[in-house]
Amino acid sequence: MKITIMTLFPEMCNSVLDESIIGRARKSGIIEIDTVNIRDFTHDKHNRVDDAPYGGGMGMLMQTQPIYDCFASLCSEDGKKPHLIYMSAQGKTLTQKRVKELSQLPNIAILCGHYEGVDERIIEEIVDEEISVGDYVLTGGELPALILSDSIARMIDGVLPNDEAKELESHYSGLLEYPQYTRPPEWHGRKVPDILLSGHHGNIDKWRREKSLERTLERRPDMLKSAELTKKDREYLAKLKENK
Ligand code: SAM
Repeated sequence: MKITIMTLFPEMCNSVLDESIIGRARKSGIIEIDTVNIRDFTHDKHNRVDDAPYGGGMGMLMQTQPIYDCFASLCSEDGKKPHLIYMSAQGKTLTQKRVKELSQLPNIAILCGHYEGVDERIIEEIVDEEISVGDYVLTGGELPALILSDSIARMIDGVLPNDEAKELESHYSGLLEYPQYTRPPEWHGRKVPDILLSGHHGNIDKWRREKSLERTLERRPDMLKSAELTKKDREYLAKLKENK
């Protein structure tokens, strides 16, 4: 799996990608995540990559030529066109489902906008999909690109120290995760639920599933419509709703 982040600020991305779990996965070659500086492809003698929008208005727009040439170089490097995602506040909001689907692709490129964004024609010409990280606007696509890369990378086998862990986490199965505790067993008068100290794995699994259902009902009831629920889950949810 290869991800290439096309950006005007590669150092901003590299400093994050070199750290922790993703940093280790990159070093060991489980996943390749590279950055490429769009500015290296400009033909402008002053190295400019942006210009004022036609029709007036505030801010600057990233021009088509450096982005196009940057992407063309990725295509010729790999011998085929990577799936190109433009990080955009106007895109579809990222979900765990889309993350899982994207993690099956062999080669992804991510375009980070900056300033007022990019010339619309580059989107029409080369972008396969636009993805947003939420209904708010950031100064650039670098943080969204890092969010997307991180979420995809942790779906790749071998990236997480414990591969099963990802299946238990919030959103993977369409539910929020149950609450978790570590040592000490009591802190500020707050005790870890007895069941977690019981060593009875069957009861612990049942408790966790129920807490997961309770949490999702309380915080994100919308998720229950598409979650994978068993007959027992549905009965438990009906009981919770009755006791509300
Ligand atoms: N003029 C654009 C608009 O109104 O849609 C916003 C441009 S924003 C200031 C600059 C860049 O940040 C965008 O080109 C995009 O790459 C990135 N960006 C900002 N908010 C984002 C979000 N919620 N999700 C993904 N990318 C975002």
